[in-house]
Amino acid sequence: MQGQPPLLVARMREHATSIFAEMSDLARRTGSINLGQGFPDTDGPAEVAEVARACIADGRGNQYPPAPGVPDLRQAIAEHSARFYRLSVDSDSGVVVTTGASEALQSTLLAFVERGDEVVMFEPRFDIYAAGVSLAGGVRVGVPLSGRGLRPDIDKLRAAITPRTKVLLLNSPHNPTGVVFTRDELEAVAEVAMEHDLLVISDEAYEHLWFEDHHHIPIATLPGMWERTVTIGSGGKSFSFTGWKVGWAYGPHELIRAVSAVRQHLSFVSGGPFQYAIAHGLRLPDTYFTEFRQDLAHKRDLLSDGLARCGLGVVPSQGTYFVTTDVRPLGYDDGATFCRDTAHRAKVIAIPHQLLCDDSTVGLPYVRWAFCKQPAVLEQALDQLSTGLAS
Ligand SMILES: *Cc1c(COP(=O)(O)O)cnc(C)c1O
Repeated sequence: MQGQPPLLVARMREHATSIFAEMSDLARRTGSINLGQGFPDTDGPAEVAEVARACIADGRGNQYPPAPGVPDLRQAIAEHSARFYRLSVDSDSGVVVTTGASEALQSTLLAFVERGDEVVMFEPRFDIYAAGVSLAGGVRVGVPLSGRGLRPDIDKLRAAITPRTKVLLLNSPHNPTGVVFTRDELEAVAEVAMEHDLLVISDEAYEHLWFEDHHHIPIATLPGMWERTVTIGSGGKSFSFTGWKVGWAYGPHELIRAVSAVRQHLSFVSGGPFQYAIAHGLRLPDTYFTEFRQDLAHKRDLLSDGLARCGLGVVPSQGTYFVTTDVRPLGYDDGATFCRDTAHRAKVIAIPHQLLCDDSTVGLPYVRWAFCKQPAVLEQALDQLSTGLAS
């Protein structure tokens, strides 16, 4: 890896390299199968892609779309949240379309975090959260997910709140653990948010990727939470078009106005034709969403069962693209060493949790594997693992 870019501003120095870039680089150098990267290797519904193609051909969205997003997509986002969550979102003033969930997250942090404000989040975490807080000049505060199941511990959350805490940044279904927060857990989190008058940013990029009865519950649906929550979604994750980068934030008018004010100065607008296509996706019948989950659950089982047969301790995945394993049964204490060894021994790449935490003891023995890959790729990876890890 290259060192620090010497001219980079101080507040971004710790974010100059990313674990995903480092592990992808290792994948290339070792010729490994990359189960580190969280994107599907099959595209989403053909009819959704067809809408994008037709829009480009017909000149819909080829020029700057309206700043908050094309009305058709904002309407579809409102319909979708009414249909799945019985939320009543104002498609005019309560939604802003963004360049992926990523820009929605960063815009929201930049809109609400003053210099020195604390942003509390569970760890391990999605890596851009840390960079977003630094960009805003805030201070991040990690709260470890706890116990064998890697669940939110409300006492630890409560202990992390100070008078400077402004924002609670939530993510369920949770990347990297694969944990889906239960209603009880969300209610407890909501209580803390209300008690301390916190703003909640709820990253629901995986809202449609939950398995069995681990239903996704938007925290904004809980009593007293709508007013203080910005909810973020990702067309890339929900429709397997991660390259399109269409995301959104919705919530009460006053919050979304602030997010939009920042967002207009970042990418301003993006993905015109893709916005119409994602609108089509959001209106697909329930069968699409059910089959999407079933297909992914099958891949999850394939990978999880295989990893267990290799001797790893599997933390059952309830949602997302990912399953977490404990590497200690294989004689390792830390996931980063395991991942580097595994790239060489088995030519398979995974991501260590510890590099997604501030406290490197949190998540030390855990590793994240992506199962959003074709079954043949997963089977090949498992073959290599069972041979490579045994030798
Ligand atoms: C992928 C991901 C995002 C970013 O989504 P995009 O729509 O690709 O920007 C946000 N949050 C989590 C937890 C993710 O895994």
